[in-house]
Amino acid sequence: MLSKLGSRRWATKVASLSLRPVALKACRVAPMAPRMQTSAPAVRQFSEQAITGLPSLHELTEDEQALKETVSRFAKDVLLPKVMDMDQKGEVDPAIMQALFEQGLMGIETPVELGGSGMTFTAACIAIEELAKVDPTISVIVDVQNTLINTCFRVYGTEAQRNKYLPMLATNTLASFCLSEVSSGSDAFALQTTATKQGDKWLINGKKCWITNAGQAGVFVVFANVDKSQGYRGITAFIVEKGAKGLTVGKKEDKLGIRASSTCEVFFDNVEVSEDAVLGKVGGGYKIAIQTLNEGRIGIGAQMLGLAEGAFDHAMPYIHERKQFGQPIANFQGMQFNVAQAATDIEAAKLLVYNAARLRDSGRNCTKEAAMAKLTASQVAERVASQAIEWRGGVGFVRGFAEKMFRDSKIGSIYEGTSNIQKQAIAKLISKEWQQ
Ligand SMILES: Cc1cc2nc3c(=O)[nH]c(=O)nc-3n(C[C@H](O)[C@H](O)[C@H](O)COP(=O)(O)OP(=O)(O)OC[C@H]3O[C@@H](n4cnc5c(N)ncnc54)[C@H](O)[C@@H]3O)c2cc1C
Repeated sequence: MLSKLGSRRWATKVASLSLRPVALKACRVAPMAPRMQTSAPAVRQFSEQAITGLPSLHELTEDEQALKETVSRFAKDVLLPKVMDMDQKGEVDPAIMQALFEQGLMGIETPVELGGSGMTFTAACIAIEELAKVDPTISVIVDVQNTLINTCFRVYGTEAQRNKYLPMLATNTLASFCLSEVSSGSDAFALQTTATKQGDKWLINGKKCWITNAGQAGVFVVFANVDKSQGYRGITAFIVEKGAKGLTVGKKEDKLGIRASSTCEVFFDNVEVSEDAVLGKVGGGYKIAIQTLNEGRIGIGAQMLGLAEGAFDHAMPYIHERKQFGQPIANFQGMQFNVAQAATDIEAAKLLVYNAARLRDSGRNCTKEAAMAKLTASQVAERVASQAIEWRGGVGFVRGFAEKMFRDSKIGSIYEGTSNIQKQAIAKLISKEWQQ
């Protein structure tokens, strides 16, 4: 049943996933040159251009649309029946994990020749969004693998590292991004984990916390300082494989939300790795972490967007069926205004997330837009998931899908930079623009 869903039709169309098809279409319907030669008033020219100009950010390429439909079907048919059980047990069903690999969802941007789906970052965000509509937990597992881990290897790995790890990560191996520590969360680069050179080896010592996917990970990207006197310039990224002597994964946190995903401490006690295990340059870990997280925030934005959409869609049938005062509660203006506000919030979050993702795919700087997308989408997710409970009245307060979405929504304002840290980043960039 699972493999039938995995058409992976998109995987064969590597090159057609840029914005190019959309741009060409816009050119076809907007023959600018003849119009510029007329003596039409400027206002008329402007309005015609607006009508025939660039299409909406909602417009998807053919491959993106195919991916969206396939992931949506997978989420509803395969994932949904297991969501509440996985949440209650606090663990992912191994069949679901396997299906994520089989569906091509763990290597969305990884080139086809390395076992991936050869698609874009926007495509990864679409998949993350569709999964989050049904289960934000499975969504974050896919998000971390694609937007953090695969990006680290694809962008900063040597050819040998890319050839070894990207196929594993796309087809059968989960990985973890190990940056946070007890004393360094928001202040991530104050990390205490060290790596000491001994001959041609490195010895890693320290303790990481809050590490997503650590319970099942076969590979760990670990940030450690090789020279504390250099401050953040000493931070270096290392690849550590499961089974390395001295590597231990601690107990799983008992969390408020996204409960099925494993979040654990990871201990490094004289873990020995070779020089080949350095990802990027010695001292280049700061850049890897900051650039990867800047983009990764768009993925969390997509997760929170999907969560808001999922909570909203789940509430709609109920409010149209539930009657009070002799009519569906959706008929009351008070309810209608709430629904309108939630739908508008979701639309705003969607435009921010898609805009940031498109910017990332076009190679443009998107640090500010990514932070705005994550900040807004996580706020919207919390508001909509909370409203969706109220709209169900007492029924909403009972454990179930709406209640799970409400619990899951809280994490958006915490991981990959809290909301305050997003605001700090946005404000810094705005100040820089005004100081130039
Ligand atoms: C479920 C989960 C999964 C996670 N997964 C990973 C992972 O896979 N890998 C990883 O490396 N980390 C992971 N993390 C860690 C996460 O990124 C950190 O929890 C987050 O960055 C916040 O750090 P902290 O918890 O230490 O909070 P703190 O930094 O202590 O922040 C506490 C409060 O202080 C505020 N604050 C801090 N500094 C400032 C400031 N300068 N200005 C204004 N306000 C400030 C914050 O906004 C927050 O409200 C995960 C965390 C959770 C809960």
